[in-house]
Amino acid sequence: MNKAGSKLKLKPGVVTGQDLVDLYAYCREAKCALPAYNVIGSSSLNAAMQAAKEANAPIIIQFSNGGAHFNAGKFLDNSDERAAVAGGVAGARHVHILSKIYGVAVVLHTDHAARKLLPWIDGLLEEGAKFHKETGAPLFSSHMLDLSEEPLEENLATCKEYMKKLAAIDMQLELELGVTGGEEDGVDNSSVDASRLYTQPEEVLAAYEALKDLGQFTVAAAFGNTHGVYKPGNVKLKPEILKASQDKVAEVHSLPEKPLALVFHGGSGSTEGEITEAVSYGVVKFNIDTDTQWAFTQPIKKYMDENDGYLHSQIGNPEGPDKPNKKKIDPRGWMHLGEKQVVKRLVDAFGHLGATDKFVFED
Ligand SMILES: [Zn+2]
Repeated sequence: MNKAGSKLKLKPGVVTGQDLVDLYAYCREAKCALPAYNVIGSSSLNAAMQAAKEANAPIIIQFSNGGAHFNAGKFLDNSDERAAVAGGVAGARHVHILSKIYGVAVVLHTDHAARKLLPWIDGLLEEGAKFHKETGAPLFSSHMLDLSEEPLEENLATCKEYMKKLAAIDMQLELELGVTGGEEDGVDNSSVDASRLYTQPEEVLAAYEALKDLGQFTVAAAFGNTHGVYKPGNVKLKPEILKASQDKVAEVHSLPEKPLALVFHGGSGSTEGEITEAVSYGVVKFNIDTDTQWAFTQPIKKYMDENDGYLHSQIGNPEGPDKPNKKKIDPRGWMHLGEKQVVKRLVDAFGHLGATDKFVFED
């Protein structure tokens, strides 16, 4: 609910442009955030949309470079990013078509792109510009650039350059400041110096000043958050860094509280208290990958174990040597168990993030 006590109304489909700006502003006012789920194909895309339907809240669907490549098929060579561009475009079109059938609003995003992945973003922007010309709206809502391993000036200089291209087709940028710890999608930050896991408010201010006149953006500021789920104790979460960053920008530029839309990477394994605190400081996007991977795999493992006697041959099981196993073998049966568990995990996430039932989808 916003201060006036009303829910945000959203049209089914992909949320872009000013609607996305309004959505993130509403999230900050209503103190809620949206789960951002890393999809890899139609199974996970559809689970995401079903979760949004059950929670009555928009979901953020994001493709990592590896996820986009996987959607195109691991068979394809990706040395020129051709497969990951095509996989991203195909996945985005899947959402444009099916979100309206599910009756849900979706934010479409791409995850970490370090400098070596800029050709992937360039390819997606080329396709995005064509889509924008045809339809008047962008293909994706936003792209992320993660140049956090570079000096701040270089990170921001490249963000400025891309911000202009994104703004020209009504898209937003997500940038990263400081380093998210751990390992994800082949990028290993598990041995990065601990001080780099905490962003300085001055860095957030510098980013704001570099980008504020060029377009719309969200900030993934590191506050000890880590990709993957590990034993607690190695790195301490300091959500107060997010508050200090918001306060710094608001004070220097005489803005109302929480001027920035913030992103929480590595949300898997976080406690409800940590989540609530981060959301209260203006986190609108909460990335969850490892927990949903676990959710997908775990019921399938259980199914395989429980039906072991039916899965060694096409004919013959504990009920008799001539009994067929077709129904147990059909991948649609066991894959759907994974899909349903992902929906459940995402619906739980909407609840922890305070987003459940704060929205109305209407045509
Ligand atoms: Zn991340």
